[in-house]
Amino acid sequence: MPSPATEEKRLKELESKLKQGKRKAQLLLRESNFKNITLEDILQHWNGSALKRNTDFFKSVEAVYQLEEKKRVKQKELDRTRSENIPDGLECGVCLDWLADSRLLVCGHSFCRNCLYRLYDAAENNIICPMCRIATIGQVDQLNRNYSVEAAIQSCRK
Ligand SMILES: [Zn+2]
Ligand SMILES: [Zn+2]
Repeated sequence: MPSPATEEKRLKELESKLKQGKRKAQLLLRESNFKNITLEDILQHWNGSALKRNTDFFKSVEAVYQLEEKKRVKQKELDRTRSENIPDGLECGVCLDWLADSRLLVCGHSFCRNCLYRLYDAAENNIICPMCRIATIGQVDQLNRNYSVEAAIQSCRK
């Protein structure tokens, strides 16, 4: 698997290609009969069928559309590579991203504060840990912050 740095470079290349493509499409758009709609509008409803009208403008829109698709896929791949590189214990088991403003449950597991809000059961006034099913009584904001996790994340992400 290519390294995140290589992937990031490829994404940047795609982005600059996309920018050029958009500039070209925008120029052609201004010369076309569709002066009142934006390129973004066209892209949103684009399905390639208009390609039959084989004009430079439609070709340029198709090119931009293809590039955006590619970029979306690449971005997703990159996000996945990044999350695979989160060290054990610093990843939130709910959102699978870096722990953000982590709070410690009585069982010893930590999750993002925002993720815990979603786990909080107001009727029971507790949070069931999704990793070990042990209940922590009380609300999210009563939980202690996990300072050691926060420090470890800071030094990892420098
Ligand atoms: Zn989370
Ligand atoms: Zn737990």
